[in-house]
Amino acid sequence: MKTHWFRGWMGMLALFAFSALWLQGQQGSAVPTVAIRAGRLIDVRTGKVAVDQYILVTKDRIQSIASSPPPGVAVIDLSRYTVVPGLIDSHAHVLGNPKDQSSTGSLRMSSAQQAIWGVRNLQVWLDHGFTALREAGEDDPAYAQLALRDSIEQGLIQGPRMVSAGQFVSLTGGHGDADVLAPDAGLLPRPNIADTVDDVERVVRRDIKFGADWIKLMGTGGVMDPISDYRVQELSQEQMARAVEVAHRAGKKVMVHAEGTEGIKAAVRAGVDSIEHGTMLDEEGAKLMEEHGTWLVPTLYCFQHDMETGLSQGRDAVSLAKGVAILKEQGPAFHRALEHHLKIAYGVDDDPDVVSKEFGALVRGGMTPIDALRAATINGAELTGRSGDIGTLEPGKFADIVAVEGDPLTDITVMEKVVFVMKGGEVIKNAGK
Ligand SMILES: [Zn+2]
Repeated sequence: MKTHWFRGWMGMLALFAFSALWLQGQQGSAVPTVAIRAGRLIDVRTGKVAVDQYILVTKDRIQSIASSPPPGVAVIDLSRYTVVPGLIDSHAHVLGNPKDQSSTGSLRMSSAQQAIWGVRNLQVWLDHGFTALREAGEDDPAYAQLALRDSIEQGLIQGPRMVSAGQFVSLTGGHGDADVLAPDAGLLPRPNIADTVDDVERVVRRDIKFGADWIKLMGTGGVMDPISDYRVQELSQEQMARAVEVAHRAGKKVMVHAEGTEGIKAAVRAGVDSIEHGTMLDEEGAKLMEEHGTWLVPTLYCFQHDMETGLSQGRDAVSLAKGVAILKEQGPAFHRALEHHLKIAYGVDDDPDVVSKEFGALVRGGMTPIDALRAATINGAELTGRSGDIGTLEPGKFADIVAVEGDPLTDITVMEKVVFVMKGGEVIKNAGK
């Protein structure tokens, strides 16, 4: 009996040893597909910069980082540039024409037309080095953003790796109520409207049914619409808590649009995963977020950008007036977030043509350049639950690799000058040749 057990054990051990050797052989002997020569390589985990390194890529993953390439392997020469991980935008809206800011824009476009704009928009994200994004919700009852996410995954179209929210969960007359028409001209009832706790459960279940990874709640009023008040809490704490309960039970996460002070705190107390904007975050709210480990996606630049675009893109005057009023809240709130060492991820919430502008806004707002880079890489990966695959340049992760001119640690705005983009081992852009 004892011998039998011992033999079985030895057999298992031998099998383990063999498997380990085989795996090692597989990895060790695999010939890299390509080597990327990086003039300067930023390790966002440690903040250290290594000079003249080779990133060896096998198929879609990073195999290793070495000081010289193996013989015979093709080299992409980025020795004049700084190389960073593929960037992550954690607050993106991919559907429709990003230069149409009118409150009825999405009502004049079919879901199909919005999706075609989406295909075009996703290329712009890639072109700026954003190889992954988190969709922050849409008001499309047909969920075209989920179709885009799945089409990228299936290789039907090119675009960043996506995780995605469903429809905005909103009160009647709230920030996510797209029906801005007169009472006798209104739309048919829309499936994203939730006025009670049970309504929230139904709307969240619909999002989950159709494949949302995240639930997007409108916790307070907002700026871009012509009807809501950004200072006012919209969904109740009980409603948000129900959304969290239903979403978390299904393995999904919850992000909350929250600008006004009370709505931010109610959302944090309800147990949500991330606060979007947090534009009027007060001391108590910052403390609460720190205690709960709630993420903040501050989206600073989009509010600043509004002052440049003004009414030129069809914006309603009433909406622009809100934008002017809220801007003064942003700086002090962001300072509180930094003082409380909140977990911060990069999100632009704007036209993808300006997706790189948030770097400058974060640093002007008091963040260090390396932390701004972390917000758009390692932090975005953690927030979106993809730390095993993206966010750093380390063996085993996807070969999502970006190069910029100059040194982002001394001038963060060079992140606007992306010369090279690789996603999963495929060269998307190589303008530095
Ligand atoms: Zn947004």
